Amino acid sequence: MRVGIVGAGVAGLAAARVLRARGHQVTIFEGREEVGGQVVTFPVGGEELECFYHHIFTNDTAVIRYIEDLGLLEHLKWIEPRNAHFVKGRMYPFVTPLDLLKFTAIPLVSRVRLGLAALWLRRRKDGLTRYEGVTAREWMQKAVGKKAFDAFWGALLRGKFADQADNVGMVWLWNKVYLRFSSRKGGGSKESLGYLEGSFKRYYRTLADRLEADGVAIHLNTPVERVAAAEGAVKGIEAGGQFHEFDQVLMTTPNIITMKICPDLPADYRSVLERVRYQWATCLILALDRPLTPYYWLSIGDDLPFVACVEHTNFMPVERYGGNHVVYLSNYTPPGHPVLDMDAEQVFASYLAGIKRLNPAFDPSWVREKWFFKDPGGQPVITTNYSASIPEMRTGVEGLYLSNTTQVYPEDRGQNYSLLLGEKAAALMDEDWRRAAGSQDAAI
Ligand SMILES: Cc1cc2nc3c(=O)[nH]c(=O)nc-3n(C[C@H](O)[C@H](O)[C@H](O)COP(=O)(O)OP(=O)(O)OC[C@H]3O[C@@H](n4cnc5c(N)ncnc54)[C@H](O)[C@@H]3O)c2cc1C
Repeated sequence: MRVGIVGAGVAGLAAARVLRARGHQVTIFEGREEVGGQVVTFPVGGEELECFYHHIFTNDTAVIRYIEDLGLLEHLKWIEPRNAHFVKGRMYPFVTPLDLLKFTAIPLVSRVRLGLAALWLRRRKDGLTRYEGVTAREWMQKAVGKKAFDAFWGALLRGKFADQADNVGMVWLWNKVYLRFSSRKGGGSKESLGYLEGSFKRYYRTLADRLEADGVAIHLNTPVERVAAAEGAVKGIEAGGQFHEFDQVLMTTPNIITMKICPDLPADYRSVLERVRYQWATCLILALDRPLTPYYWLSIGDDLPFVACVEHTNFMPVERYGGNHVVYLSNYTPPGHPVLDMDAEQVFASYLAGIKRLNPAFDPSWVREKWFFKDPGGQPVITTNYSASIPEMRTGVEGLYLSNTTQVYPEDRGQNYSLLLGEKAAALMDEDWRRAAGSQDAAI
């Protein structure tokens, strides 16, 4: 079978690996100049760094399997991160469960309620059915009270989902807590996060090299303009001024792009794709001559223009980045937000007062370099009853399939789940092909 894949991100590469292993001819088209998709990187002080912060959890077993298969396991480092929450102008460490008791931004009774709610959620295996129709705000505010909600969960939800925060389903929040606890090594009180030296893109590049050596064609810098179908079946892909015929096509692009380049999608399928809204992900990255904070992950509970301050070099050694202290100031915004039209200088100017709130001694002269990155498909908004908004992998056009982050549920989007989705889509495509070939043989 001749298969075309649109997108050489995590899902596209994982699908190509399975399809090739099952003997199909695979061609990938990627609009960007390199593979990896949202795991896109750029060099800082001679080392590749993700444009959007990335780490993995111990239960991201698919990522670990890929890294191992590609012979890179010795470069996967497990680190106990120093995490904290910034609220009412202060940083509160959140490394062990005991830190919750020292979270004096809220009364003791609120702290106890926060802790009990987390303990309750980490034990609920049935959160998917239990919480489908409930918003995170409704459940959490009732469980922990308004003070604790506003200082902690409410702030995080607003930061990540902005005007959509009140519509976010409790399933999303339950699963965050559930997975985070279950990723603690050996059930310990401290969390371990994984990072691949030289960036995660390193294993996608290695995987792409292996795929190419195995006969998969990867066309970089080749955005797909249109996926053509006729009489309800896919025919091929228009890209780089040429038409390429395929028996099957897998889209790994976000819904918004998929709808644009697949004009023949049936109306009912299109209406499911339209249902999911995305927040843009934005990251201002600063290379500093000294540390900004003592923490790796600082979530922001106060009203600052960013929702997290991720100081990568409080996690990986600063020497790897030419002595630059690397800080991500991350945010999620709805489409049309003014920050999306700004360059790195303008974003920095608008964040300056916020950065000084984190470290009053901060001076712009500490900044050696700055970059600003944004992605329109950064975060699908996971609303209540989200199951009904998940698009099927089969699109309703014969031979045309979809695998993207809107299908990750109840987990939050992550490399692990995109790898699994890519593999699942490939297995489905192969199965459909074999079934169709079998019924043709039977007819003969
Ligand atoms: C801010 C941020 C932080 C994250 N942090 C983490 C983390 O800490 N840990 C973790 O595991 N995961 C994290 N993720 C999630 C992870 O990166 C994604 O789940 C995963 O990369 C998605 O892969 P994908 O293949 O489904 O989609 P994508 O990566 O979006 O791949 C789609 C590909 O299609 C290409 N494309 C688009 N249009 C066209 C076209 N017309 N023609 C050809 N190609 C096209 C794109 O360039 C892209 O390469 C994060 C994501 C973001 C945005």
